[in-house]
Amino acid sequence: MTIDLGALAGNWRALAALAPAAATGAAVKADGYGLGAVPVARALYGAGCRHFFVAHLSEALSLRPHLAADATVFVLHGIAPGTAGEFIAHGITPVLSSLRDIEAWASAARAAGRTLHAALQVDSGMNRMGLSTAEVDALVAAPERLAGIDLTVGMSHLACADTPEHPLNAEQRRRFIAVTGRIEALAGARLALANSAGILLGPDFHFALTRPGIALYGANPTPSRPSPVAPVIRLESDILQVREIDRPEVVGYGAAHEVTGPTRVATVAVGYADGYLRAAGNRGKVRVAGRLVPILGRVSMDLMTIDVTDIPPALSAPGMPVVLVGDGLAIEDVAQAMGTVPYEFLTRLGARFARTYL
Ligand code: PLP
Repeated sequence: MTIDLGALAGNWRALAALAPAAATGAAVKADGYGLGAVPVARALYGAGCRHFFVAHLSEALSLRPHLAADATVFVLHGIAPGTAGEFIAHGITPVLSSLRDIEAWASAARAAGRTLHAALQVDSGMNRMGLSTAEVDALVAAPERLAGIDLTVGMSHLACADTPEHPLNAEQRRRFIAVTGRIEALAGARLALANSAGILLGPDFHFALTRPGIALYGANPTPSRPSPVAPVIRLESDILQVREIDRPEVVGYGAAHEVTGPTRVATVAVGYADGYLRAAGNRGKVRVAGRLVPILGRVSMDLMTIDVTDIPPALSAPGMPVVLVGDGLAIEDVAQAMGTVPYEFLTRLGARFARTYL
């Protein structure tokens, strides 16, 4: 796997330029969407990013030492019981998404004898994370629950931003403004609603801070519109073996592909254990010597078989490269052949793909 950190930084700048009135952060959870959180975050820091979002405290702990003190690392999952001390010791900022999170952080502030920063997440209609309406009511009725907490960010997440015409987008925005307006402690906070696709919904959705993820990594966040970003990764493997078949035969597990005429079958050293999902069997395509060729039969754990009948033997011999992503073969196309989305494809790419950073 080759990861073009220059292209990644360029994508961050392109997204920042689309939301010029807001600060632009970055979602680097799940190991930077599979590309390596540390090199990704460092490249983004170099481009100007100062707000980094991970899911777990463990992810924040691995990332924090690699970023300067003016970078904030937010933990989206909030404060697991007994971990507030670790947040404080390592300068990590929790995203408080429940009254329980607020209680844990306020109590940590009392114990530390100082004010602690945090983000507050409210649920604006996705019903996944964030304070519910009842919790917001309870907080508005008893604002002292936030004593000792300085809310620097007020956030929520969009469920349908990748479908611009979906009515939930406007509804979530309306609820986000209404709910955050009720919480006095958010008066000085930066509001943040947009993920990658949210940025493309336009200035009404930008508020003061955005949190793009997938677009940074080169995928078009809104498939129905032209992509605002450039590819970041290239995935390559090579041919292990080649066989010429000149009579009716089957290929691979389950005899799932039948060869009828003369065929050159090449075996490639990548399989579903590398995150090249089994669903791509008999559907996906790869590139050999610049040409798209089909995957034949099922994808196995460490191998797959492809049809190189139309490729000159010298260019499809053992050791010759096979491009899985790159040279115009987009992660969107590959993910689609696997019946999934770029998010799942990227985050499942296995450790056997050696990561090389450009
Ligand atoms: N913010 C939150 C809370 C998220 O869960 C995610 C990703 O799932 C993002 C931002 C980034 O979203 P995207 O990768 O669609 O830009």
